Amino acid sequence: MNVSRVFYVTTPIYYPNDLPHIGHAYTTVLADVLARWHRLKGSDVFFLTGTDEHGLKLQRAAEKKGVKPKEFVDRMVPEFKRYWKLLEISYNRFIRTTDIDHEEVVKKALEELHSKGLIYRGTYRGWYCSSCEKFYSEGEYEEKEGKKICPIHVKELEWVEEETYFLKLSAYQDEVLKLVRDTDIIHPRGYAREIASKLEREGLRDLSIARPKDRVYWGVELPFDNRYVVYVWIDALLNYLTGIGYGGNRKFREYWSVVHHVIGKDILWFHTAIWFAVLLMLDVPPPRRVLVHAFIINRGLKMGKSVGNVVMIDDMLDRYYTADSVRYLLMRLLNLEKDVEFDVELLDNIYNGELADTYGNLVRRVGVLSIKKLGGVVKRGELDEELRGKSEEVVEEVVKLMDNYKISESLVKTFDLLRTTNAYLNKTKPWESENPEPLLYNAIEATRIATNLLNPVMPSVTRKVAEALGFEIIEVDKLKYGEVKEFRVREAPILFKKVKSDIS
Ligand SMILES: [Zn+2]
Repeated sequence: MNVSRVFYVTTPIYYPNDLPHIGHAYTTVLADVLARWHRLKGSDVFFLTGTDEHGLKLQRAAEKKGVKPKEFVDRMVPEFKRYWKLLEISYNRFIRTTDIDHEEVVKKALEELHSKGLIYRGTYRGWYCSSCEKFYSEGEYEEKEGKKICPIHVKELEWVEEETYFLKLSAYQDEVLKLVRDTDIIHPRGYAREIASKLEREGLRDLSIARPKDRVYWGVELPFDNRYVVYVWIDALLNYLTGIGYGGNRKFREYWSVVHHVIGKDILWFHTAIWFAVLLMLDVPPPRRVLVHAFIINRGLKMGKSVGNVVMIDDMLDRYYTADSVRYLLMRLLNLEKDVEFDVELLDNIYNGELADTYGNLVRRVGVLSIKKLGGVVKRGELDEELRGKSEEVVEEVVKLMDNYKISESLVKTFDLLRTTNAYLNKTKPWESENPEPLLYNAIEATRIATNLLNPVMPSVTRKVAEALGFEIIEVDKLKYGEVKEFRVREAPILFKKVKSDIS
């Protein structure tokens, strides 16, 4: 197996305490588009997503419903799978932290850390958010009327003091700082600077990794002290190793060498400073990439149930009809560095202008004309130099952009080609031409190139176009203008029904 032809991508594993919303979909669709892009490049792809099922937050959510935690998560997991199926998320494994192989990996890792002397006993005192399951140090929490407030959940922190076990992260501070500052692992680089400056300012402190069972019983037991369960974050991070069969075999090493962790910026610290240190302790190389994105915000805030500004996946599916449209809009908004506001008017304009009027209209036109003028059989004739040049330029640009995670920019570029093709039809007017065949051939060929490039973002619509116009979606390296000898056009589908911008 050629290592450059392997790709491993992960999403964070989500808390199944509630249904996934557009915030979860944003991260998951991004990871799915990367997975599909690499499959389109002919790579052997492993795509891991799943659920983070242990910890106090789920324990409490289950108690509230009057059921056991396992029963509760067993009910929630099918909901996540249902939404990911609706959105055509092409994961290879849906991992649950209650999976037996995962619990074994957690125990094995903890035993190793313990036997290396990297875990020691001590007392922890601090301000704790039960929703984050995280202690907040000074400067991290907000203060309001003398109260310490969680900046994510905007609720009061609790003072917690307990006997625990610590992980000796501090011993790895310098090595972690080097990985953060001097490598290209964290992308975009602004996030690396943020973590580097936090490490320089506060250092990397030892982390309490055990929770007494009388407070938190729902977790993986420490293999060396059964009065405790492991802190849910350590449990969760290790899923990335379990997913590809942690154990140092060849398959594990190959996938691990290219792993891309897709995360939202709120969990950056855990996925860099803490995770890099844990991997160093386990003698596992750092991830190849931690790809960080900013948020889709609503009314200026990150979406959250407690904030009351959540946009549900169903809301978007209802408005824009198909998973492909929702995927397109989310990726069109995608901004790794800056938060973007969820703005229905803007989304309506993108949907109508780009999907319906540009792509949908082009496919409909070439389909109808090919059937009407040529009985659906369109043979290759003289190639149009302008469309060929534009197509080749767009393919080259899109490859560069996608390989640099610039998905929104690559969509804009691909739509340039679709617009040029619509303009080509307007200019050459195949409907009144004596010899429409070469004109239609060139228009379909450019449509084919664009459709092929759009496949990772809109898998269903592009398959439908390929079937209707009579071509195959192929590996992106093989995509050449003028390759197809003949199109057998079967139908002229209407791809996107317009939305009316009537809501405020
Ligand atoms: Zn919180």
